[in-house]
Amino acid sequence: MAAILPGSTIGVLGSGQLGRMFTIAARRLGYRVHTFSPDEDSPTGQVADHEVTASYDDLAAVAAFARDVAAVTFEFENVPSRTVDTLGADTIVRPSGRVLHVAQHRVREKQFLAQAGIPVAPFAVVHDAADLQAGLTRLGVPAILKTASFGYDGKGQARIADPGDAAAAWEGIGCQPAVLEGVVDFACEVSVVVARGQDGALADYGAIENSHRNHILDVSVWPARVPGPTAAQAVAVARAACEALDVVGVLCVEMFVTAAGEVIVNELAPRPHNSGHLTIDAHVTCQFEQQLRAVCGLPLGSTTAHAPAAAMANLLGDAWARGEPDWAAALAIPGVKLHLYGKAAARPGRKMGHISATAATPDAAEALVRHARQVIVRQ
Ligand code: AMP
Repeated sequence: MAAILPGSTIGVLGSGQLGRMFTIAARRLGYRVHTFSPDEDSPTGQVADHEVTASYDDLAAVAAFARDVAAVTFEFENVPSRTVDTLGADTIVRPSGRVLHVAQHRVREKQFLAQAGIPVAPFAVVHDAADLQAGLTRLGVPAILKTASFGYDGKGQARIADPGDAAAAWEGIGCQPAVLEGVVDFACEVSVVVARGQDGALADYGAIENSHRNHILDVSVWPARVPGPTAAQAVAVARAACEALDVVGVLCVEMFVTAAGEVIVNELAPRPHNSGHLTIDAHVTCQFEQQLRAVCGLPLGSTTAHAPAAAMANLLGDAWARGEPDWAAALAIPGVKLHLYGKAAARPGRKMGHISATAATPDAAEALVRHARQVIVRQ
């Protein structure tokens, strides 16, 4: 397929911050961007050329959207398959419907990874209470029950510490198809963001170290402070997953690292990821530009870094508890970059923006973003 060149129009399904940062990267390169989601004045819509507000189930609207763009990509993976099929009838869709189909369902995702020989936590597929009991007998406790669909940031999950908690956990996730996972005793969590071009070329940024709070990503540090062979293993696993899935676009692979240095895949996101936001300020080609290049059939960009280390701290709505944060205090810190997503309502737990910084060492970069985040909160 011929490359889709600057001046063309790209469609983004979804309209949150990932679509916003993709759109900014695409517009810098001279593309036009249309976005489609049920929301109005969305983070993506504010920076796109055109914002379509319609339900993902409105297939007439989806088809009309597809006819106006040279290719469609996604900023989240939970797009109904009928929507993807409708898009595919009128335009190029990247990553493909198959990639979304696997990544949007934990059972399919786990089975795909296991079949590809990629290490995952021990798991059992759960369709009913009897499956759950059988799974608990096999895996033991503690274990985590996760809904197969529509889970993110710890939503749709229940931790089972005692077999007696099984019934409550099953009810708690709404008695729907799920995966039961053994709890991994991890030393740290890392992710690898890999881009794969139409020609099969791969580009990655190495391992990024992630810490979570209340199941939501809190701080990412690059490069991950893990031994070299562990980082290399994480990269090899992520590249293998990207190739096995035949992704054209960006894939983020989230992993646990055990004390023994073993790498275990937790989940896949077939799109740019929160942990890769630091690539905007730290690397020659950020994850969003890589997504654009891959979707358009252009060569991937250099992932060389501008500095030896970088970090990112998320800004959740909680930071607004005592009023609008003191932005000037963060901007006064040399090297600190502020990214805000244009969301009006600052609800607790809602991702409103992030702070990033580069530094000479990962520790120094982490200290900078944590300090910047601390000084902006009104006391
Ligand atoms: P997830 O929604 O699957 O990304 O899980 C969110 C977070 O919960 C992960 O980043 C981990 O910190 C934790 N978690 C999820 N699954 C497991 C597991 N099998 N063992 C230990 N921690 C887990």
